[in-house]
Amino acid sequence: MKHNQSIDFVSIVIPVYNEEATLPELLRRTLTAANSMNKHFELILIDDGSRDKSAELIEAAAAEQDSHVVGIILNRNYGQHSAIMAGFEHVRGDLIITLDADLQNPPEEIPNLVAKAEEGFDSVGTVRRNRQDSRLRRYPSKLINKLVKRSTGVEMNDYGCMLRAYRRHVVDAMLECHERSTFIPILANGFARNTAEIDVHHDERAAGESKYSFLSLINLMFDLLTSMTTAPLRMLSIVGGGIAAIGLLLATFLMILRVIYGAAWGVDGVFPLFSVLFIFIGAQFVGLGLLGEYIGRIYSDVRARPRYYVQDILVGEATKDARESDENK
Ligand code: UDP
Ligand code: MG
Repeated sequence: MKHNQSIDFVSIVIPVYNEEATLPELLRRTLTAANSMNKHFELILIDDGSRDKSAELIEAAAAEQDSHVVGIILNRNYGQHSAIMAGFEHVRGDLIITLDADLQNPPEEIPNLVAKAEEGFDSVGTVRRNRQDSRLRRYPSKLINKLVKRSTGVEMNDYGCMLRAYRRHVVDAMLECHERSTFIPILANGFARNTAEIDVHHDERAAGESKYSFLSLINLMFDLLTSMTTAPLRMLSIVGGGIAAIGLLLATFLMILRVIYGAAWGVDGVFPLFSVLFIFIGAQFVGLGLLGEYIGRIYSDVRARPRYYVQDILVGEATKDARESDENK
């Protein structure tokens, strides 16, 4: 439990997937930045089943004495967010920094993140000052930022950048979430009390290619969506209700016309057909939406996220000693 907000030990967590070209420079720059902080630190590199020499490079770095490097080698490729989670399992620091291995996030920003967190923030995000991604990547992420803002209530402008800092208790809370697919920055927001964002520089990938193909990007977006909300399932019943209402309105309207203008209206046209169709389609959607509601509830039970997370318990010194001796019994 944290009564003390100071940060003495920083853990830097970096997922690595086929990054042999950038690893040496990454290590050099990250270690320089971390050494400049005057704090204890560790550098946790997770090899996410790379097929190049990344694992060997990490092993060599970890073997060097006093290098502060911890290597975690996964047996196969699990994806960026799972790799980071694997790293989280082994952190020892008070503050945990995540960043990408491709040097798009300059390691030199780490001390700035730490300084911001020391002001008393649980989670520090970053906004890319000069984003170096294509438009195709930029528009979807704008949309996502808006959606997230609405559904988590936490205001952050940029979720695409993994250069972030989390206090230990936020990471511990995330480790208690058992879902298979996660989107870490959003999950973290659910457990943070005070969040902040700072501007960071964003470079082009130093070498190699993005590990996300178009398809895996789509997959990532679904991870992101489902990690925050089951609202799309709920939408089904709303859409269905809407369609059925339109059908009913149309039917009423046709009936009124028929009463006023007589048999010439609304018997052999396509309109009555439409109204009946709409009512039935609407009813089907409502049925699906109902299924969706059940599935949504099953989904959140299956994820088994902690129902709440106690960050701190505040009692006076005397009570505290009494409680602790109670607990030790
Ligand atoms: N990464 C990973 N496993 C994967 C894909 C990516 O560990 O399956 C790592 C990758 O090595 C990098 C980070 O996640 O450190 C971000 O990947 P990338 O730069 O390819 O993503 P982009 O910047 O294109 O979103
Ligand atoms: Mg990248």
